[in-house]
Amino acid sequence: MHTKKSLGQNFLIDPNIQRKIVDLLDLSLSDTVMEIGPGRGALTSHLVGRVGSLILIELDDDLVCDLQTRWGGRPDVDVRHQDFLDVDLTKITEDLTQLIVLGNIPYNITAPIIFKLLERPRPKDIFLMVQREVADRLVAPAGVTEYGALSVGVRSIAQVNIEFRVPRTAFRPMPRVDSSVVRIKPIQPPPLSVEEEISLRNVTRAVFQWRRKQIQKTLRDHSDLSFPGEFLNNIIRETGWDLKRRPETFNPEEFVRLSKLVQKRLDETSCV
Ligand code: SAM
Repeated sequence: MHTKKSLGQNFLIDPNIQRKIVDLLDLSLSDTVMEIGPGRGALTSHLVGRVGSLILIELDDDLVCDLQTRWGGRPDVDVRHQDFLDVDLTKITEDLTQLIVLGNIPYNITAPIIFKLLERPRPKDIFLMVQREVADRLVAPAGVTEYGALSVGVRSIAQVNIEFRVPRTAFRPMPRVDSSVVRIKPIQPPPLSVEEEISLRNVTRAVFQWRRKQIQKTLRDHSDLSFPGEFLNNIIRETGWDLKRRPETFNPEEFVRLSKLVQKRLDETSCV
């Protein structure tokens, strides 16, 4: 069958790896699972009948027809012909915080998919096959080249683990890169308020744009931040940090603390 490169169609053909991925989910008949991009059903066929409710979201017209034919008649399977990025997750199930998400997802939209899944409220657990390099960025410790806004943004609100690597030979057509299965488990309740998360995003975006500069320079001079010296002194007093450090040396916990201080300051200085 013809594959559509534009939809990131690299089908997982190794049955052992298919099983190994689905086993990670530790499923029971009370679970609701959403699969992103089920394709030809490589993972789906291991899910059907093992969960209480299965929602399949596939964009490709032909593949949706096949999925409908195979499983559309079952009351526990809901096949949806949709772009995942347009799905209103709050309407997908009664309690999103109980949803388990699985996807061997198209590589070209990995980051938008992850960020969408991490909007609030968040699913209970997320298992994704991603390009190996993206997985490495997600788990990278502070100080290494792969560490950046993605590492901080995701790890400040979720636990991330690389479950295992998957070689390119497990797919058809064979991609040019290897993959990893990652588990992203959102921390419940969320450790940051909605406002603090926005501050975190603004701060990390700015400081990693200028990742070679001392963090104090970016906090002071970047047009999205422009914090006065008095606030920087306050941060030093509260945390004991050396603000001459580069942003890449700050770990996610330190960014969480920084965003809380930033938000506190914004609350104190905003007009009522
Ligand atoms: N799950 C199958 C497997 O493991 O063999 C297919 C994986 S393939 C890497 C990605 C799948 O996502 C394809 O079936 C593709 O048509 C589908 N897809 C691509 N973009 C999508 C989108 N925006 N929303 C939903 N599905 C999409």
